[in-house]
This record gives sequence, C-alpha cells and structure tokens, in this order.
Amino acid sequence: VLIDTHCHLTSPRFAGDLDAVIDHAATAGIGRMITIGTGVDDAEAGAALATRYPGRVLCAAGLDPFTCHERHAGFAAELDRLALHLGARGCVALGEVGLEYHHPLLPPAAQAECLTAQLALAHDFGLPVILHCRDGHADLLRILASWAPLRGCVHSFSADAAAAAAAYVGLGLHLAFNGMITFPRTSALQEAVATVPADRLLLETDSPYLAPVPHRGRRCEPGWLVDICRTVAGIRGSEPAVVAAVTTRNAEELFGL
Ligand SMILES: [Zn+2]
Repeated sequence: VLIDTHCHLTSPRFAGDLDAVIDHAATAGIGRMITIGTGVDDAEAGAALATRYPGRVLCAAGLDPFTCHERHAGFAAELDRLALHLGARGCVALGEVGLEYHHPLLPPAAQAECLTAQLALAHDFGLPVILHCRDGHADLLRILASWAPLRGCVHSFSADAAAAAAAYVGLGLHLAFNGMITFPRTSALQEAVATVPADRLLLETDSPYLAPVPHRGRRCEPGWLVDICRTVAGIRGSEPAVVAAVTTRNAEELFGL
C-alpha cells in the first residue's frame, strides 16, 4: 500500500469528482495521501478534506513562496494564522515552504526570511517540514545548514536539484520523487533516484500537476503513484513491491502516521 506524500486535492480541478479520484487511488493501492496547504486558506480547505476522508487524507500547512509574495505586507499576521492551524487534526507537517526563483516573486533575502520564520515554527511544533525549491538550491542548502539535523523532505525532486541530493541527505532530509522521473532526458534525476539511500526515499504525485508517463498532459491523480513507483523500482533495479514497502515505512516514520 502506497502513500502519496504530496498532492493538491484542494485544487479546483478536483472539485467535480474528488470522491471518484480518492476511490480510484484506493483501488490502485494508494491508501493515504497528504494534501498540501500552500497558504492558510488552502490549508483550511485541506483540513476539511482530512475530516471528510478520515484516515485516507492527511494535510500539511505552510506559506509557500507565492503566498509569501502575495501576503508579504501582512506576513506576521499570516504567520500567526498559520501557527493556529498547525495544531489542527490531521496536520502532519509544515509545508510547503521554500524558495522559488523561477518566477518573479520576493527577492531572495525576503524569501529566506519567510522560510526561516517557518522553519522556527516547525521546530516549535515538532513537525517535519516539506520543502519546495526551484532554481535556489545553493541558497536553500545554506539556510538549512544552521537547522541540521532536519526532519522533512525536499519535494518534487528534479534534475536541477540532482547535484545537491547528497547534501540534502547529509542534512537529514528525505527526497520525494514524482512523475518527472518518468519523463525522457532526465539522466541526472535518474542518477539521484538510483543513489538516494533507501531510508530517505519518498514518492509523491504533486497532483494535479506533473502527470507521469503514460498519462502525460492530463490532470494528474494520486492513483498514478503506481506508475512512479514502478519507474523508481526499474531505475534502482528493485521490485515495485519492495519500493512500495520501503517508501511507505519512510513516510509513516517521517510524518508520524
Ligand atoms: Zn506542491
């Protein structure tokens, strides 16, 4: 039984058929999924889903770089709202939080401040942290170094992150891989999949984004985690059942499930 450690079930793209999506996932062997809050309003919607699907949907809450950008004027108040939310039932992690340099958001120093404030919250609440990073791995590693050893994961691990894989593992973090590993021409990423220690490996879909082969271009669903698991197993020269067992145990331990 697999765990989808990162999906966005609060997306409007699931509004019409979420019951069916979750049933499909269960039929495919995905027993539990963590829906990610990218801001407090989204986290509240995620917590409502955790209540509606007890034991199947869990949730995380954080202020992602897009929310930090939008709410920067009132960031202190937003942080207070987030703190209230972290104690909610079914909330298993703080996230997603991190650095996003691909889009024109806050300057790096301001993004770093927003991230650091939330790392402090995760520490206070004893929660693992789910990290997002695009084009800023050197800065992220520098920020995280003063918090090591860390409990958490770098989600949507990608080719631009591959060179940093060993450094993240060295800080104590897990690496979470999604449908990008099924895309062609991603040899650096596949190298990272092949070499990450088994006890640091996690699987995610990032639904509704990044549908794996053979579903590319469609709305991604948690049920397609099986395609990602099979690809990881192939790259590691392992069996899907072995990868499923290992990654499920890792997720249970990391998120206290
Ligand atoms: Zn996400």
